[in-house]
Amino acid sequence: MKAITLLGATGSIGTSTLDLVARNPERFRIHAVASGRDWAKLADIARASSARVAVIADEGGYRPLREALAGTGIDVRAGEAAMVATAAEPVDLVVAAIVGAAGLAPTLAALEAGTTVALANKEALICAGDVMTAAARRSGARILPVDSEHNAIFQVLEHVERVSRIVLTASGGPFRERSRAEMADVTPAEAVRHPNWSMGAKISVDSATLMNKGLELIEAHHLFGVGPDRLGVLVHPQSLVHGLVEYVDGSVLAQLGPADMRVPIAHALAWPERIPTPVKRLDLAMAARLDFEEPDRARFPALALAEAALAAGGCRPCVLSAANEVAVGAFLDGRIRFLEIADVVAETLEALPAAPVATLAEVAAADAEARARAHSFAAHRARR
Ligand code: NAD
Ligand code: MG
Repeated sequence: MKAITLLGATGSIGTSTLDLVARNPERFRIHAVASGRDWAKLADIARASSARVAVIADEGGYRPLREALAGTGIDVRAGEAAMVATAAEPVDLVVAAIVGAAGLAPTLAALEAGTTVALANKEALICAGDVMTAAARRSGARILPVDSEHNAIFQVLEHVERVSRIVLTASGGPFRERSRAEMADVTPAEAVRHPNWSMGAKISVDSATLMNKGLELIEAHHLFGVGPDRLGVLVHPQSLVHGLVEYVDGSVLAQLGPADMRVPIAHALAWPERIPTPVKRLDLAMAARLDFEEPDRARFPALALAEAALAAGGCRPCVLSAANEVAVGAFLDGRIRFLEIADVVAETLEALPAAPVATLAEVAAADAEARARAHSFAAHRARR
């Protein structure tokens, strides 16, 4: 029986995780569930999953959550410090599925405690990859990738020193075939309508700008210890091949599967075993074709910005990611236009110097400064 702490329980990954846990009660039990603001949904989840602990990041959610769970015996906690302390409690697996930089401190706490982490919160590795992997090395904690491309690569990776290239596939998002002019006026509703995957709003917008794939290159660098020269991206509109590893002998191993996050989540939950999932099976005869093309960095400049940040290292990926979170938020709120997301990220990167980051405190400082700059660039654009 694996005891699981689920961070980000109310989100898209959290919901899929709970579905798999509920289908396998003999294998998994929920120790703690944690989320951001939605105390009512968290209360429902805590009850339904028989969690022992429920943590809400928003302190204002403490009272209503406690009242909603009165008489259940579930231990109710609130605030960032409680989130971090809960993540450090001994369990077999922490599923890190908070969105954005908010996931950094609890993910690090789990790794420092030596707990295996099923990582969906890619921002943890993008902003603080060296800090996270160093903590995992020190404690012996293992990071199991949940992001579908990285999970795919994890499944086919052996002898990393014999790898000549790792390729992440990208669906190309909803605007794959659009010109810049055709992307100028797209609405948030159009941008979050992903052709293949159902996901949270932020990552859906990141998929539409291709920033997601850039962030995933940085994630892959930290997960697999491979430099940018051996990492690539291929646009693959069907989203059936999730990742490819080419070896020095010319062999290419790829993982295929339906575009359903429950496949990689199930892999990470059950690893090193496998569990059945209810997902629709991959039918290659029905799919009929698998297309691949080079990404177009002129139409999707966010990808090139991320590649440059990866090459530069230090604080640059954190600045990129923080500025992107702000810019995506401004776009979703209707304050800036779609193409301005990459503009705000580029302006923020230009405004801030490169610097090394060795601790979570230094990462937090770089993150805060990047957010402040990005907010002012976004506000400036919004006023125009
Ligand atoms: P989501 O927006 O659906 O859910 C986010 C979760 O984080 C919610 O439970 C929310 O309450 C919680 N949260 C937000 N702010 C918080 C805070 N300050 N403290 C604690 N909890 C907080 O997002 P999602 O799509 O499930 O994505 C989660 C992570 O997984 C992201 O990093 C994303 O990039 C990654 N990911 C998601 C998918 C997918 O298919 N959804 C695929 C690959 C990777
Ligand atoms: Mg992905």
